[in-house]
Amino acid sequence: MPTNIESIRPQSWQGIDDIVIVGGGLAGLFCALKLAPRPVTVLAAAPIGHGASSAWAQGGIAAAMSPGDTVEKHLADTLAAGAGIVDEKIARLMISEGPDRIRDLLSYGVPFDRDLEGQLLLSREAAHSERRIVRVKGDQAGKAIMEALIAAVRNTPSIRVMEGYVVEELVVEGRFVSGVIARPDAGKSKTRVAFPARAVVMCSGGIGHLYQVTTNPAEARGAGLGMAAKAGAMIADPEFVQFHPTAIDIGRDPAPLATEALRGDGAILVNAAGHRFMTDLHPDAELAPRDVVARGVFAEVKAGRGAFLDCTKAVGAHFRERFPTVYASCMEAGIDPVTQPIPVVPAVHYHMGGVLVDADGKTTVDGLWAAGEVTSTGVHGANRLASNSLLEAVVFAARIAENIKGMLPESTLYEWPKNAGENDELVTLEDSPQLAELRRRMSAEAGVIRSGEGLKTLIRDIARLERENTRIRFSNMVAAAKLIATAAYRREESRGGHFRSDCPDTVESWRHRTYMTLKDAERTAAEIAG
Ligand SMILES: Cc1cc2nc3c(=O)[nH]c(=O)nc-3n(C[C@H](O)[C@H](O)[C@H](O)COP(=O)(O)OP(=O)(O)OC[C@H]3O[C@@H](n4cnc5c(N)ncnc54)[C@H](O)[C@@H]3O)c2cc1C
Repeated sequence: MPTNIESIRPQSWQGIDDIVIVGGGLAGLFCALKLAPRPVTVLAAAPIGHGASSAWAQGGIAAAMSPGDTVEKHLADTLAAGAGIVDEKIARLMISEGPDRIRDLLSYGVPFDRDLEGQLLLSREAAHSERRIVRVKGDQAGKAIMEALIAAVRNTPSIRVMEGYVVEELVVEGRFVSGVIARPDAGKSKTRVAFPARAVVMCSGGIGHLYQVTTNPAEARGAGLGMAAKAGAMIADPEFVQFHPTAIDIGRDPAPLATEALRGDGAILVNAAGHRFMTDLHPDAELAPRDVVARGVFAEVKAGRGAFLDCTKAVGAHFRERFPTVYASCMEAGIDPVTQPIPVVPAVHYHMGGVLVDADGKTTVDGLWAAGEVTSTGVHGANRLASNSLLEAVVFAARIAENIKGMLPESTLYEWPKNAGENDELVTLEDSPQLAELRRRMSAEAGVIRSGEGLKTLIRDIARLERENTRIRFSNMVAAAKLIATAAYRREESRGGHFRSDCPDTVESWRHRTYMTLKDAERTAAEIAG
């Protein structure tokens, strides 16, 4: 992209000074704050603080800040988790900038836990070789971070927050993204509103709701990934999806989590016959890596034997005071975890792939930047190291702000554009039978265990569903689903979060990232359709 963007700005930019951010999670709000005092409009599908995975994060943020920790150690853990395809240069950059971004969060008022001497309390998580997770009151990190940022955003006059605006489309002029079109009233309005912009930053989060079982909020449905792909952006590593092995299977959507700490405390996984199946699969049994446990649970569920987390001996009578959130979820569903095993199922938790961005968060389409879970920066490779995702969101959101400030000269000319868009009849995607089927099929064939044949039938089904439902919001989801399914079909090996039962080994010649456009995915889909 040229450095003097003014010389090539599209017609629609004349008189427009707005930077539009799609999404009010951690990435979106942090970017807006870092852009201040530039005029920014944040469009969020739900009121900020709701409808965002950021507010649900329990663990915290990874940052190499303890005296014994180093960038090299954090990097080594990140590379190991990523199964051979982490972009080392970008990961090093993210990790090096982590401590400064934590200090930024402190300056915005995030009350990270501290010890008696006022030093940040750092805890340790699985696959981290050091204590490096900053958290708030144990498991309240996401909520506390979001509360602090929301207060800061509300006190920043240059930031306008439009809540309940569901962005449906990017406006593309030639090679440029020059604005977005959104539907107000949580997407229920009959009219749409256009937001011309000098720059658009996509921060729309993950893809969990493309699947039947997920831990993500309903707004995480791959819309931003789909919209960016439709605008021509290059997508990277879409096949890599991380599953949490033990979501509580009580028919709730999204599914509540039975935290990994329960297994850490000795809870065991059994099937309906009471057999402890993880001991057959891995020497570490329930404490095996997340993807191994997820496959073990999935195989039992698929075989009709069911999977249950039995905490009766390991936690027993202490359940209520030690794990109050899990306890409440179980009791609501009529399961007493003190005396009964908890039914569990793997759930989509995090998307490693996404819109390809460079170190400054720029996508391959001019005028479009992206940050947070919707992106693929390359730092996660084939599997995310726990607590690196919030870190990625803040580091790259800050870099985007710097980049945009450097590229767009400040201007005093300013007006908020608010044009009534086309009329469209009321849409309630949630009721669509095509959406329900898409989610079921994605879970069955692009889930924890995949196969070439299963993915082929999925790709054909996605094409049929696309013909049956041509609504724009569904087509955004379809675009994201197509990218995930075709990339999973093409990658004939198993690596990180991607497991193919017909190619269970990791293959050296596949030790590279996937780069694909929507057109590439559509070509593969057309070949399969014959
Ligand atoms: C239960 C849970 C626990 C987790 N725990 C941790 C943890 O401890 N540590 C860690 O590092 N990571 C954790 N993660 C992952 C992490 O929370 C996410 O990766 C991260 O918060 C993503 O931030 P984001 O800003 O990209 O997206 P989000 O926080 O999901 O925000 C996305 C925003 O975009 C909006 N949006 C979506 N589509 C549209 C649209 N079409 N138009 C307008 N707005 C739209 C949403 O409403 C929302 O405001 C966890 C995730 C979950 C689900």
